Amino acid sequence: MRLTGVHLLLTYTCNLECEHCFVWSSPWQPGTMTVDGLDEIIRQSADLGSVEWLYFEGGEPFLLYPILLRGVREAAARGFKVGIVSNGYWATTARDGIEWLRPMQGLVHHLSVSRDSYHGRGQFCEQADNACAAADELGIPTGTIAIAAPETTSAGRAMGQLPNGESAVVYRGRAAVKLSPRAGERPLATFTECPCEDLREPGRVHVDPFGNVHICQGISLGNVFETPLARICAEYDPDAHPIVGPILRGGPAELIREHDVPHREFYGDACHACYEARVALRERYSAVLVPDQMYGVVEA
Ligand code: SF4
Repeated sequence: MRLTGVHLLLTYTCNLECEHCFVWSSPWQPGTMTVDGLDEIIRQSADLGSVEWLYFEGGEPFLLYPILLRGVREAAARGFKVGIVSNGYWATTARDGIEWLRPMQGLVHHLSVSRDSYHGRGQFCEQADNACAAADELGIPTGTIAIAAPETTSAGRAMGQLPNGESAVVYRGRAAVKLSPRAGERPLATFTECPCEDLREPGRVHVDPFGNVHICQGISLGNVFETPLARICAEYDPDAHPIVGPILRGGPAELIREHDVPHREFYGDACHACYEARVALRERYSAVLVPDQMYGVVEA
């Protein structure tokens, strides 16, 4: 497995609690990266020799501003391209946003800002717009992430009719629980492949505050605080992985069949079937289907 990107989940905590969140982030969700953890993950990413991009995300990474800034500086100093994903809550005005971003000017190569109705309207949209305007002013390239309402891609409505600039909701994490009842129902038998991730050669992984290396949110390949990332990559055998293997052989439908998971016949999408199967398999694969945060088990 050759990685070109490592995404650091600085924290599971967020100022918001969006219904479509993959990772169950909220103001009450614990799990925060330490300075030592941050330094270690960046060092291990550099050791790989193939990583070009380091992304900082969460949760909301700006809640940990000093840690985020340290990570951005260290990553840039090591020659990585740096990206950040944020909801822009910190940009009360564009001028305020500039103050937050100025220390990162010239170091950040992309700022992705979430801006859709799940993140709120009114003030939340203004903050997202202010964050983008501030980044523009400082020459930091931006993009927005917008997720459409479930009804947009429900059965009965033709695919490809998403509102301009919006992506379809994916029913993983909190979205599987909160939004799937609003999704159209599709037969399990049609979910014969993973629609979103290249599970054989992923190119990028997410590493969380506990060191878990996620190939998809909640599916771990190992822990960098126990095994170096370089070794996790070198020893990755997708066909032998208890969750990835079945999905590669036949999608979430095969995951459910091989592990004999109690199931329904219809789901909102492939990820919905996959997520529910993994919830049912957590006890059996307790070292792989981690951490509790990814499965909505909040310990406030
Ligand atoms: S099918 Fe499973 S592994 Fe693939 S993207 Fe969806 S949740 Fe992740």
